[in-house]
Amino acid sequence: MRALVSEQGAVRLDHHWPEPDPVGDQVLVRPTRLGVTPADLRAVRAGRFSGVLGSEFVGIVEKLGPDAAGQDHLLNKRVVGSPQIVCGECDLCQRGLSQHCRAGRIIGRDGADGCFAERFVIGVRQIALIPDGVDDDAALFAGCVARAMHAARRVRIEGKPYVTVLGDTPLALIAAQIMTSLNGSVRCLGDRPAAYGLCEKWGVKHRHIREVGLRHDQDIVIDCADDRPEFGDLALGLVRPRGKIVLMSAGAGPRLDPHEIIEHEVEVYGVASGNPCEGLAELAKGALDVVSLISRRVRLVDGLSVLRAAAEPEQLKVVIDP
Ligand SMILES: [Zn+2]
Repeated sequence: MRALVSEQGAVRLDHHWPEPDPVGDQVLVRPTRLGVTPADLRAVRAGRFSGVLGSEFVGIVEKLGPDAAGQDHLLNKRVVGSPQIVCGECDLCQRGLSQHCRAGRIIGRDGADGCFAERFVIGVRQIALIPDGVDDDAALFAGCVARAMHAARRVRIEGKPYVTVLGDTPLALIAAQIMTSLNGSVRCLGDRPAAYGLCEKWGVKHRHIREVGLRHDQDIVIDCADDRPEFGDLALGLVRPRGKIVLMSAGAGPRLDPHEIIEHEVEVYGVASGNPCEGLAELAKGALDVVSLISRRVRLVDGLSVLRAAAEPEQLKVVIDP
C-alpha cells in the first residue's frame, strides 16, 4: 500500500509499505480524510522520527484486533481519533489524566506509525464514533475544537473578558469562535488574508499584527501562532497585570521573559490536547464553521508536495483526500 514515510527527515511516498495488521486492542482504519498539522512539519524538520507520518484523520474501521473483538459496533463506522497512545495503567492514567500518561507516545512522530497511508492501525481506546450529523470534513477538526474547549475551561471564561488570539492558524480561528460563543470580546491577530475574510463572516475582529498596540490591557491572550517567530513576545506586551496567557503552540513560538511574568504577576497556562468526543459533540451542534478553514485539497499520491503545500504561508488547512 501507499504511505507517506519519513526516514530521519527525508520524506518519500512509499508504494510498497506493508499493510499493518491490528494486534492487541488495535483496529485497522481506512482513512477518508487526513489533516496536515504544524506538528507534522516540525517532525520532519526535527529529523528524529522514522516511520509513517500523520496524526489527524477521519476513517472507517475495517478490522478489529484480537483484544478488540467485543467492539463489533465499530466495524464499518466512521471514526476520528486521538493521536496519543496511552498505557492506561500508570498513576496518571489511573487518576483520569491519561493525557499526561507517563508512557504516552504520539502516532506519526513519536515512536509509532501515523495515519498518512491507505490503511493504519490505532488503539480502540483512541478512537471515537462520529455522529451522523457531522460530515467527514468537519469531523477532521474534532481534535482542534476539543483543544480550544479545553483551553477555555482551563482559564475559566467569566463575565465578558477581553481576549486576544495570536496567529491565524486553524486552531486560532477555532479558538476565536469558541471564546466568542462564551461571551468573550475577542480579536484575532494575524497576517493571512484568508483569515480576514473568515473573521469578518463570523463577526470576530481581526487585526494585522503590525497594527496592534502593546498596552497590557487584555484579560486573556491565547497563543496559537505555531512556528511564527514574529509573534514571539507579543503575548506579554498584550496581557494585563494578573492576566492569563495560554500557550497552545510549540516550535519557534513564544519567548516569555520570566522577569515580566513575575513583575506583572501573569498566569501562564499550557494546553496540550482535548478529548475528541467533546469536539465532535460541539461540532454536532452546528454552530462552529470549521469547513471554511480548508484552503487546499491534495492527494496522498502527491507525496512530498503534500508537505510543501502545508508549508505555504497563505494556506490555512491542507487536507489530504487519500
Ligand atoms: Zn499511562
